[in-house]
Amino acid sequence: MKSHVKAVVIGGGVVGCSVLYHLARAGWTDVMLIERSELTSGSSWHAAGGFHTLNGDPNVAKLQAYTVQLYKELEEISGQSCGLHLTGGAMVADSPERMDFLRLAHAKGRYLGMDTELITPSEVKAMFPLMDEKNFVGAMWDPVEGHLDPSGTTHAYAKAAQKLGAEIVLRNPVTELTQDADGTWNVVTVNGTVRCEHVVNCGGLWAREVGRMVGVELPLLAMEHMYLLTEDIPEVMEFNKSTGREMIGVMDFKGEIYTRQERNGVLLGTYEKACKPWSPVNTPWDFGHELLQPDIDRIAPSLEVGFRHFPGIEKAGIKQIINGPFTFAPDGNPLVGPVQGLTNFWCACAVMAGFSQGGGVGLALSNWMVNGDPGFDVWGMDVARFGEWATLRYTNAKVRENYSRRFSIRFPNEELPAARPAQTTPLYDTMVGQNAVMGDSWGLETPLWFAPKGTEPKDIVSYRRSNDFEHIGNEVRATRESVGVTEIANFAKYEVSGPGARAFLDQLMTNRMPKAGRIVLTPMLNEFGKLIGDFTIANMGPKSGDDRFMIWGSSAAQKYHMRWFEKHLPKDGSVRIHRFDQTLVGLAIAGPKSQALLAKLTDVDVSTKAFRFMDFREMAVGGAPCMVNRISYTGDLGYEIWMQPAYERLVYAEIKDAGEEFGIADFGMRALLSMRLEKNFPTWFRELRPIYGPYEGGMDRFIKLEKNDFIGREAAAKEHAEGPKLRRVSMIVDALDADVMGDEPIWAKVGDTDHGTVEKPHGYGAPRFDASGAVIPAGNRSPSTETDGDASAVLGIRDGDWRVVGWVTSGGFAHYVGKSMAQGYVPAALAEDESSGLFEIEILGKRCTARINVEPPLDPAGEKMRG
Ligand SMILES: Cc1cc2nc3c(=O)[nH]c(=O)nc-3n(C[C@H](O)[C@H](O)[C@H](O)COP(=O)(O)OP(=O)(O)OC[C@H]3O[C@@H](n4cnc5c(N)ncnc54)[C@H](O)[C@@H]3O)c2cc1C
Repeated sequence: MKSHVKAVVIGGGVVGCSVLYHLARAGWTDVMLIERSELTSGSSWHAAGGFHTLNGDPNVAKLQAYTVQLYKELEEISGQSCGLHLTGGAMVADSPERMDFLRLAHAKGRYLGMDTELITPSEVKAMFPLMDEKNFVGAMWDPVEGHLDPSGTTHAYAKAAQKLGAEIVLRNPVTELTQDADGTWNVVTVNGTVRCEHVVNCGGLWAREVGRMVGVELPLLAMEHMYLLTEDIPEVMEFNKSTGREMIGVMDFKGEIYTRQERNGVLLGTYEKACKPWSPVNTPWDFGHELLQPDIDRIAPSLEVGFRHFPGIEKAGIKQIINGPFTFAPDGNPLVGPVQGLTNFWCACAVMAGFSQGGGVGLALSNWMVNGDPGFDVWGMDVARFGEWATLRYTNAKVRENYSRRFSIRFPNEELPAARPAQTTPLYDTMVGQNAVMGDSWGLETPLWFAPKGTEPKDIVSYRRSNDFEHIGNEVRATRESVGVTEIANFAKYEVSGPGARAFLDQLMTNRMPKAGRIVLTPMLNEFGKLIGDFTIANMGPKSGDDRFMIWGSSAAQKYHMRWFEKHLPKDGSVRIHRFDQTLVGLAIAGPKSQALLAKLTDVDVSTKAFRFMDFREMAVGGAPCMVNRISYTGDLGYEIWMQPAYERLVYAEIKDAGEEFGIADFGMRALLSMRLEKNFPTWFRELRPIYGPYEGGMDRFIKLEKNDFIGREAAAKEHAEGPKLRRVSMIVDALDADVMGDEPIWAKVGDTDHGTVEKPHGYGAPRFDASGAVIPAGNRSPSTETDGDASAVLGIRDGDWRVVGWVTSGGFAHYVGKSMAQGYVPAALAEDESSGLFEIEILGKRCTARINVEPPLDPAGEKMRG
């Protein structure tokens, strides 16, 4: 065993071996994997080995597609078979709602380049004869599904990595991790200490314990999972003989089961409602190549439905039941990336589908470690997406909820109840008392909308407009016509101060920093000129020689942004950064009467002349010391008022009291998001994400290329000079009873006209495949110049003169203008074409006409905001 290497990967499951292989492939060959026992000694050895590309997050789906396509390359390099069976698979729907879900997934596939197809139950039966098709209404076929040999695949990664020079050390538990002052890690093992620059936690079932070695409690939990193997089934053998093919894989949502052929019988697994965590607090170190006791009673309800749906399986004898544990994060996606607050400590854990995701996880993490950036939009699996609120007990409740809902439909207006309420503001009881329907915003209870007195404050979950529609409309109209108030405690808030504060922000942000008492809006870019943040920044004015700036941003990105800020903080201590979280809360008032309302609450002159649009002041409001921004995401005249939580009840009561004469209304987050639509305002993580350039995102006026050499300036200047390929657009949609939710394809009637490259940029330097389907190594590609080169991802699915040219990022009903609206991306050449009849957006399988609206439909000159 070497005593010093560049990076140590802890854990020899499929994920650790994939990370090792990808690091070596990216050029870091001085790397070592340390395994406690033998390879596959965690959950990897007893996996069912199924793989598929479908994932609720299109970016994760893309990395899953990469994983599946990688196996061929892996077999060639390692000389080790992965035991691939690329059978294809079908998801079967038993109800119209489930069919809507499949239509949505299929529509998403149209711009992801996935070759899915909607098919009939009889067509599924023709490929999986054991089922009774009468139980189903339809299905979605995906040719890129199958199963493999879990152990062979893990060893293939390991062998391929070793061929590239990586070292693997077996039977050597890591017992301790310490870090020297210069950042060097000491990986203490039973057989000695290895010093290295980087440590990667791929501890799988023990990833929590490895995290604890550096004081981090990672939000993951292992669950027991069962699948059964049947004896030989004559119908299966007959099918194989008569067709010359293996049976396909089938996922049955109603039965909560997945099934496929295994030898001459079938394998059938369940995600049962009565699920059970395994080792909820500590994973025993002596757990090895062993299985858990099967519990047939627990899966009996799923089996009952399953046997009804697949009578051909019921008749077969059960040969073996496998029960094994594997880990999940609270939302079921992996935890990948650098851990905020530590240097060079990386995670690749909670990978619940290692054989679908392991390759993509390895690629993204190795890009991140080697190039400083994952090269893709990996937000959906970034370890930074969970805050401090994701404690052991939170994780336990959420993982159980997620596991038991694995085959349930998640509706776009559905808030999940487990582990709630967690964080509440002082107004929580007041809001609930006012019939607020509350939602979870990065662990904080936030009012979504207000149900009228006498009705139950509850969403009727649906893909279509629901019971909140009328009430959100009322909240919007009351605000736009007089004044409304809402709680905005969920925004992220930071203070940056110190003598170096301005220079620090100038280096990070694309816009000029404001003068004292003024506010700017500014994106933040990474080195590749992609959007990694969108902030409101106020200059609080100097104090004791220090510059002081307040920053507001996306709530969900707090750890993500802190990680970036900390990475770029000067080492000389000239800049301090403080994240407030819920130690600072806020209320927003908006609407034409908001100025008159604020005037009643303060002794400061807040006339338009004295307190201008985009001004910032520290002032007393309703008797409480507050910070006030003259700005509003509603696009109306409005103010954001920030205070310590101890004052929130007072300020709210004063606002409501003083607002009575104006008929003040409470409005929730959904009304706020509706109002931003009619102003064409984008949202972070929907329209603005790390896959788009600032000009593509329509942020042109906030990019000051001439100001100084900020991070990403060169790439942004290039995008500006060459002109963006894509543009964010706002559209009015002729929708009937359902609005867009995001990820719908945009069709255009363009005939054969070429409008340039219209690929969805899932990444830059993302996996590229050569003509034979082999991956072009990351080292041979330039992350700054390339979009996703997967040929299958090129849009352009045709239907006569119509082609899929873009995708929706978000939308909904804009209540004040009374129109259904969508935002999304289309080729730049089409982005200003307002002609009707040019576009259609596919909503729940139906194509609705849509028209680009270059100017916002409400107050295009922005006169309302300026007052
Ligand atoms: C019954 C069952 C069926 C499944 N079916 C599928 C399926 O069909 N498809 C699919 O994609 N996935 C499936 N999975 C999930 C799949 O097994 C996991 O996603 C995958 O194994 C995760 O791999 P990993 O490398 O993250 O973790 P693990 O396999 O748990 O590997 C972690 C490794 O780290 C080592 N380690 C931990 N701590 C230390 C330390 N301190 N020092 C040294 N070494 C250490 C362990 O010994 C272990 O070998 C299934 C799982 C189960 C249980």
